[in-house]
Amino acid sequence: MKPPALKVEGLTKVYAPETVALQDVSFEIDEGSFFALLGPNGAGKSTTIGIITSLVTRTAGQVTVFGHDLDRDRTQVKEMIGVVPQEFNFNIFEKAGDVVRNQAGYFGLSRDEARQRSTAVLKKLKLWYKRHSASRSLSGGMKRRLMLARALVNHPRLLILDEPSAGADVEIRYQMWDLLKELNESGTTIILTTHYLEEVEKLCDHVAIIDKGRIVEDSPLNTLLAKLRSQSFLIAVENGATPQATRPLPNGTDAYKITKIDNHTLEINITAVDMLGDALNKLSAAGIKIKNITNKTNRIEQLFLNLTTRQ
Ligand code: ADP
Ligand code: MG
Repeated sequence: MKPPALKVEGLTKVYAPETVALQDVSFEIDEGSFFALLGPNGAGKSTTIGIITSLVTRTAGQVTVFGHDLDRDRTQVKEMIGVVPQEFNFNIFEKAGDVVRNQAGYFGLSRDEARQRSTAVLKKLKLWYKRHSASRSLSGGMKRRLMLARALVNHPRLLILDEPSAGADVEIRYQMWDLLKELNESGTTIILTTHYLEEVEKLCDHVAIIDKGRIVEDSPLNTLLAKLRSQSFLIAVENGATPQATRPLPNGTDAYKITKIDNHTLEINITAVDMLGDALNKLSAAGIKIKNITNKTNRIEQLFLNLTTRQ
């Protein structure tokens, strides 16, 4: 069996006793996936990326990249990863072309190969005409593309982007998305952190949500979207609750699900609008008297709402 592109297990980072940035974070990314690590500011996204890229020392946990342990096979792991950090971190006085070529050199490529690869990647990212300009003179969008060019010069199997869209205007963001899609389609596994829902929906096939240093959700995008569309109600009943019941939709998904919580409480989950009425009819047909109905807020939905309002 192919090893996953990335596996993290039990990652914990304690900056100070009062700052536990990560608490037992585990997830796995399949090769070829476009994986989102979604979460609000301060959730622990950059700390996770920092640990995977050896920039942050972890308090506990294990990182494996394409089957290679980060500590044991440090060099191989480094060679397989390309990273675009959240903050610009190149030498601003260096010329754009040199930023990319020096990175190629850092990976031990020959001078010729370094030149070829950096030429190709600068052209691909439309920075070739800026190769002689000091990187500080580039626009924000160009600086971001320069960071991506630098990350790609090594032909990484795993590309890691920390908030690639932060601060980028709409046009630059869309250009970046097209590029990333193309890279993913040609086989590069991509992990990106973001607090933009739209970015996740447009690009990713799998989402992990991190909040206050913990993974609170880890599922395929479609599963998550279905969860978001679903709603839950708590029903207090007078005369003893019924057993569980499910009514399937013609296409095989469930229109509603009734679950017994205790003798006086049922929970109804609906995945299609207008199904609450049907479910309630079913209860009354079974002789169940309803005392009251409360809308149970979905935790993930709440978190999404928070993320959206913070944008
Ligand atoms: P995100 O990238 O999701 O916004 P971070 O991983 O940067 O979150 O931060 C997670 C938590 O760790 C935050 O509470 C942040 O203040 C704290 N933190 C991050 N870096 C440091 C650091 N170098 N020293 C102390 N605390 C830090
Ligand atoms: Mg961050």
